[in-house]
Formats: sequence, C-alpha cells, structure tokens
Amino acid sequence: MPTPDVIQETIILGSGPAGLTAAIYAGRSRCCPLLIHGHQPGGQLTTTTAVDNFPGFPAGIDGPELMENMRRQAERFGARFVEGEVTSVDLREHPYKVWLGSELYRCLTLIIATGASPRLLGLGNEEALYGRGVSVCATCDGFFYRDREVVVVGGGDTAIEEAVFLTRFARRVTIVHRRGELRATPVLAQRAFANDKIAFRWDTTVSEILADQAGVTGLRLKNAKTGETDVLACDGVFIAIGHQPNTGLFAGQLDLDHEGYISTRNGTETSVPGVFAAGDVQDPIFRQAVTAAGSGCMAAIQAERFLDDLPSEAQLNCQRGICKER
Ligand code: NAP
Repeated sequence: MPTPDVIQETIILGSGPAGLTAAIYAGRSRCCPLLIHGHQPGGQLTTTTAVDNFPGFPAGIDGPELMENMRRQAERFGARFVEGEVTSVDLREHPYKVWLGSELYRCLTLIIATGASPRLLGLGNEEALYGRGVSVCATCDGFFYRDREVVVVGGGDTAIEEAVFLTRFARRVTIVHRRGELRATPVLAQRAFANDKIAFRWDTTVSEILADQAGVTGLRLKNAKTGETDVLACDGVFIAIGHQPNTGLFAGQLDLDHEGYISTRNGTETSVPGVFAAGDVQDPIFRQAVTAAGSGCMAAIQAERFLDDLPSEAQLNCQRGICKER
C-alpha cells in the first residue's frame, strides 16, 4: 500500500480507458503512478456491451474485459491502485493534495481522468426509482425486462445502441425523442429502423414517471409541437440523454468550459502546471474509448516531462523510479 506521507510522483484519478492508459504509460516510464478509483472501477465501458471499435479486436471485446486487461497491463508496469472516493483536492500549492476523507495523498503531478456521468431528466422521482424501473444502463439491467415493455429516452448513439440491445429481452422498445430526427450516426439509426421490435415517439418529452409500490408503470408524455399529453404504459425506462463531466471537485481551482468540462491546451495541460486532464472529463466532442486512451497516453507523457523539468530538490522525497518499495 502507498505510504500517505510519501509524495507521489503521479496520482491518477479515474480508472476508465484514459486513467488506465495513463497508468500504463506512467508506470512504464517509471513514474510510479498511484491510481485512485471509485467503488465501480473501469468507468463507463464496464456498463457497455461488446466494444466493436477499439482497434486490435477484430471480433470486438466486452467492455469489462477490455478494462480488466488494461488494469492488468498497468499493474505489470508497477501502477498501484487505491479504492476510495476523493472528497477534495487542493491544487493551489505544489505538491498537490488529494483527500479521501481524512486520508491525505500528495503528488508532484496529477492526471484527472474522472470521466462523465449519465445525465438525468430532472424529474422528481427519477433517482428514487433506480432499480425499480429506471435505469441508465441497458447492459446492466436489460436482463430484468424479459418480455416486458420498455422505453428508451434520447436520440443519440447511446439511446439507439441501448434500444437495439434491449430488443434481446423486451417485448417492445419505444424510443422517445424530443425532436423529429435522430442525432445518432446513420449506421446505428438504420439498425433501429430495421428492427420491428422498436417503435418511435418523435417530438416527445417525458413530463412524469408514473409508478406504484413495485416500480415504474408508465410515462406521461408530452408532444413538443402540439402540447398534447398521453400516458404510455411501460415496465421500465432507460435514460440515455448524454453525460455530464465529473468536475465538481475542481470547480474554482481549474478552468472549466461553459458545460463544466476541464479546459485543456497543448494536449492535456490544464490551467494549473503539473495537472493534466484526459478522457471524457475534458472531451465533450469525441468521447470514444480510443480517444480517451489516447489522451491518457498524452497526459502521462506530459506528466513525465513535467517531472523531468522539476528542480531536483522537489524530487528528493519521492525517490523517482523506485516503485516497489513504496
Ligand atoms: P449525445 O450524442 O449527446 O445524445 C444525447 C441525446 O439525448 C440527444 O438525442 C439529445 O437530443 C437527447 N437529450 C439531451 N438532453 C435531453 C433532455 N433533457 N431530454 C430529452 N432528451 C435529451 O449522447 P450519447 O448518445 O450518450 O453519445 C455521446 C457520445 O458517445 C457521442 O459522441 C456518440 O457518438 C458516442 N457514442 C458512440 C457509440 C458508438 O460509436 N458505438 C456508442 C455510444 C455513444 P437532441 O438530439 O435533440 O440534442
């Protein structure tokens, strides 16, 4: 286990493709990374079905398996892992401070790869109904909807992927989308149009989730053009309306853009020297596993260069390159 009073060379926050790739590169360049991850390691890919577009896997690979492979690869190069919820950071003074409750870690470089979380509709009972008919992950919960009626909210790639996946179990899947055309890429959209288990409700928003003691019973829908409302009976609703970056910890300490993503320049540099951001936490545009992994690599290389440029007295406590003893 890492010793809290030792200053770490590199701390990585997050264990999705960005964090784990950063750990592989930082470990391999002997920066002895310490990766801190939450209670569900692996990031969003652990909630996805077969990943078809990660290079090197011609037959595709399961998201959780891909993440487990990356973790083992990082461990091979000496990366260390700590599980816990980061409660606060202090980036105003170098070495930087990271708290897990009362436990303090200090580091010379910090790589933030905390990703993004599913966005919710903002309806009163939405979160209370998690696990009782409301879900943000078809891969995790689809199995429970064998021969049931389900709704997917959203019109992007995720919504379409989830809807197609759910047709393996559900009797019928209705995609409720607030506009009259999908945002999803045509190749994915075509899969949904060609699937006769999938129905569409266009120009429609969800104004209420109806439920009884056992869980969701239906949705009150509103036509965005006519204002008419009706009730669609269903057993489950999968919300797939995009994500918000996990940057609450850094507000006021790092520059964020208007949507809350960490602003980066020259690759993965943030507004604080020695603090780098990689993956979905700084990427509102591409958000792919492979782009996240690529930026994790960049962050590790930039962190290594930052360490190389530090005056030697700043490195005294961290015994650079001696990973095993720490
Ligand atoms: P997204 O592309 O941002 O799409 C979000 C969808 O939800 C949009 O259709 C949006 O409607 C709708 N929406 C947003 N807020 C809403 C609200 N409050 N109420 C109702 N609807 C709302 O998000 P995503 O589908 O999660 O995809 C994110 C990124 O991951 C994209 O770059 C996507 O290409 C990528 N991705 C790729 C794959 C793949 O290649 N296999 C799979 C999944 C995701 P509007 O269209 O009206 O804005």
